[in-house]
Amino acid sequence: MSLSANPKYRGRLAPSPTGLLHLGHARTFWTAQERARANNGTLVLRNEDIDSARFKLEFVPQMIEDLRWFGFEWQEGPDCPDQSGFGPYNQSERRSFYAAALEKLRAGSFIYPCTCSRKDIRDAASAPNAGDEEPIYPGTCRSKSPSTLNPQPSTRFNWRFRVPDGETVSFVDGNFGAQQFVAGTDFGDFVVWRGDDVSAYQLACVVDDAGMGITEVVRGADLLMSTARQILLYRALGLTQPAFYHCALMLDEKGRRLAKRHDALSLRALRERGETPESLRRF
Ligand SMILES: [Zn+2]
Repeated sequence: MSLSANPKYRGRLAPSPTGLLHLGHARTFWTAQERARANNGTLVLRNEDIDSARFKLEFVPQMIEDLRWFGFEWQEGPDCPDQSGFGPYNQSERRSFYAAALEKLRAGSFIYPCTCSRKDIRDAASAPNAGDEEPIYPGTCRSKSPSTLNPQPSTRFNWRFRVPDGETVSFVDGNFGAQQFVAGTDFGDFVVWRGDDVSAYQLACVVDDAGMGITEVVRGADLLMSTARQILLYRALGLTQPAFYHCALMLDEKGRRLAKRHDALSLRALRERGETPESLRRF
């Protein structure tokens, strides 16, 4: 657990406005809220609207309305007056923080430019990674330094984090207990800055959780391995790592995890069918 200068609990809800919120999100967020309340802490709403190609502006007010309807109450967020100094709470307004972190990673030689396409990586990867959707990066561009990259403005490249091959990254999850993942085996070098000049999820998440003083990250179990990646980023950036609490994912009647395709289970659809927040909160 981290030794924060501010021992007061700070948790967060970090929805992404790429679709309607569904019951699975709500369940995880509810756990986050209950843990913040149980610790007499602060709950922060962070709008993860960084991926402008995917999110839709009209989803933001809908998302906030759905959360309020369900019974979520946050003390800091994009719709609250920012008196804490931890804002802004829209990722689209936090680019300068991500850019500064990228610069730090570059100065420390933790990252390298990668010109591989998704297809290159799929073709070169020896085997798809079973536990994660992302194939393990085969290391094609690892020896490249920024200076060997022919600076053609038209060439798009990702900045990729070089993981310490063979090192076990471990942490104690507040819900699932001891976790360990081996860098280079369970997950490979990962993208921190994308070719379309936007911070990748892993970097933005770490920069924001640290910058917003989050003491415990509550999120879905699909991100357990991402936590190992993020721990490497905390370390490289010299940031204090929060505690982690992952929630079991909600499954549909066929045992598949709930996704955006399950529109019938969106909070909006459930509300329109006459469900009440009180009944839904029994999950
Ligand atoms: Zn590459």
